[in-house]
Amino acid sequence: MVWRTARALDDALTSRVLTRSDFRVPRYATTDLTGRTVIETVSRGKHLLTRVDGDITVHTHLKMEGNWRVSPAAGYQLRDHRIRLILANEQFEAVGYLLGIVEVIRTSREDKAVGHLGPDLLGPDWAVDEAVRRLSSDPSRTIGEALLDQRNVAGLGTIYRAETLFLRGVNPWAKVGDISDLPELLDLARRLLDANKARPGTVTTGVNARGAEMWVYGRAGRPCRRCGTVIRKENLGPAIEERLAVWCPNCQPL
Ligand SMILES: [Zn+2]
Repeated sequence: MVWRTARALDDALTSRVLTRSDFRVPRYATTDLTGRTVIETVSRGKHLLTRVDGDITVHTHLKMEGNWRVSPAAGYQLRDHRIRLILANEQFEAVGYLLGIVEVIRTSREDKAVGHLGPDLLGPDWAVDEAVRRLSSDPSRTIGEALLDQRNVAGLGTIYRAETLFLRGVNPWAKVGDISDLPELLDLARRLLDANKARPGTVTTGVNARGAEMWVYGRAGRPCRRCGTVIRKENLGPAIEERLAVWCPNCQPL
């Protein structure tokens, strides 16, 4: 999702001169990037970094409800209270709705904003050893929690966590220290993300047909595709931060 958004922004904005920048967040109400050329947009974990000439980066994050829409430049004033940012050139208009983070930072200081993230599963700088090192730093933590902690490894959400753990036969409540094949587990997560990065839905079964796309995610209460055991779902993680885990108790024993 974030990767595809970065791709759409990159296609529409890169190497083109901004003819308009409209920040609808109070802190940047007077910021104007008009006349500057966009260098690129990349995703870092779930963060979006739109780099503009002059050591400027527009850092945005979709959080829960945000999204970016790209369309041919309309030129007229968009009135929608959900809009947080508009970046436009002569051809295209990128409109950010309900973005969780909108900030303008120095490109050379991006690490201050997103540097706490672990290696990005889809990044060009993916480093499996570093991800394993970070995950292993807290061996008593559950693998389910550790995989979603973006400080360990960036880019995983509940869908890919569920599917990766199923395919590796690992219970979400297993302790990190008890898992011997972390590199293989991460490699699988990376391949699943990579195979799906350019398409709108998620397919992990290899079957691109409605209702057959995934092994366990979204299938709680239904029989496991491998063994027929009823798939379970339960919240995992400390209060407030808990996220839904979905697993087959038979294929992924604790
Ligand atoms: Zn099963």
